[in-house]
Amino acid sequence: MRTFFGEKIMNITVIGAGPGGYEAAIAAAKYGADVTLVEKDEVGGTCLNRGCIPTKAFLGASDALDAVEHAKDFGISVENVSVDYPAIVARKNKIKDGLVKGIKFLLDQNGIRLVKGTAFIESPQLVTVQTEEGPVNVESDKMIIATGSVPVVPKMFKYDGTKVITSDEILDLQEAPKSIIIVGGGVIGCEIGQFLAKMGSKVTIVEALKQILPNEDADVSKQLLRQLKREKIKVITGTAVSEVTVTDDGVKADLANGKSVEADLMLVSIGRRAYLDRLGYEKAGVETDDKGRINVDETMVTNVPNIYAIGDIVATPQLAHVASKEGVTAAQNAVKGMDKKVSYKAVPACVFTDPEVAAVGIREDQAAAAGIETKTGTFEFRGLGKAQAMGKIQGTVKIITDPDNVIIGASVIGPHASDLLAELTMAVELGLTAEQLGDVIHPHPSLSEAVMEAAHDVHGMSIHK
Ligand code: FAD
Repeated sequence: MRTFFGEKIMNITVIGAGPGGYEAAIAAAKYGADVTLVEKDEVGGTCLNRGCIPTKAFLGASDALDAVEHAKDFGISVENVSVDYPAIVARKNKIKDGLVKGIKFLLDQNGIRLVKGTAFIESPQLVTVQTEEGPVNVESDKMIIATGSVPVVPKMFKYDGTKVITSDEILDLQEAPKSIIIVGGGVIGCEIGQFLAKMGSKVTIVEALKQILPNEDADVSKQLLRQLKREKIKVITGTAVSEVTVTDDGVKADLANGKSVEADLMLVSIGRRAYLDRLGYEKAGVETDDKGRINVDETMVTNVPNIYAIGDIVATPQLAHVASKEGVTAAQNAVKGMDKKVSYKAVPACVFTDPEVAAVGIREDQAAAAGIETKTGTFEFRGLGKAQAMGKIQGTVKIITDPDNVIIGASVIGPHASDLLAELTMAVELGLTAEQLGDVIHPHPSLSEAVMEAAHDVHGMSIHK
């Protein structure tokens, strides 16, 4: 701890500059700490460089293509439509580079020392960073570990980075594959599968569980499945890949149901694991769980009092906004000695397919399986003037309440579902009732009217249903 005109200044080291780490670093600096942020790759982490933003840039391109292809529904004719795939990748890189620059500017503005290199924890107070210029020792009072996650690729998939790839490699292909097998029908598999299908790839999604988006509402999953099938995506559920053969022409996947699928490329998107490889957290006495994730409490502190851990390395949802919330909370507790706890009551989860899927709180089937008594209210987007005007009528808002009408969950599939979810997240977090949400005047014409109508529907008062 240094002093400045008699005032103590805390030193803090943050390892990893993803959405968890860089936000923790900025919050810590704003609270007056002297912050060193260590990053071995590029600031922004998975989210900005290989995750949320690149995939959404791709989906921006497929949305644009979709709009052009459906322009005639709006009385507009467009001819000679073509896709320039390298230009889509270049646009994605430009967006990413601009945002990386923006984060570097913020770090600079907040007086954060960014050290480029790989961090090794030597003790609770000492980190050695392997930089291009050699090792650098960073001593600090407190530490926040935010080293993120990497794709899980079991050996049987014969990952080679060229024919059998992960989401890390798929983002920089210079052309859409003619055909692709996507193993895993979760968020990444569905988003990338739909994008590539719109770019002309023949896509087969293989999902071991009984539905795509296994964590989501069964009705929502079915609606999305129907859309993927309309787009000629082949979806095989309830069977796993049992063997992978890499051939001169591509990849063959044998399935547990005795069938097989062949394609030019295979994307393995079956999950991500905490990345703590060679970090040396054990040297500081930090403990992990049986899945190799760092144990923390709701204040984000580990079993070592001056070490905090946040984001994809802890056992909470692997989402950028969760990592950021945990990062800021860790900074508040570490620097200011606050006792802030992260509330996981209302964690929004979004899938940026077309239509989008978004959910918060309990899903209807999860509640049923757990024997929790619920009521539901639904409203279909086709009943809204705004959705009709936009030509985006597919989808539903479903609100789940307890028997007293307190909103405990919501699942949305439809246009701008991720934006509509913010209001529902607030309702779940604050424990609003369906009446309270429905009584709020919602703008007309807007998609948010579907949320209001679904809230009214919980007690049979939807006007337009
Ligand atoms: P990361 O973002 O993984 O950052 C960790 C950083 O630590 C990395 O930059 C890494 O280089 C660095 N690091 C690791 N070890 C060391 C070391 N020893 N020394 C120095 N630096 C180190 N989430 C959403 O909320 N919305 C989405 O739409 C979404 N889309 C996604 C799409 C894809 C294809 C993928 C792969 C993920 C997506 N995610 C999405 C998940 C999201 O990217 C992660 O949850 C988020 O990035 C986790 O943040 P983090 O700060 O914990 O870790």
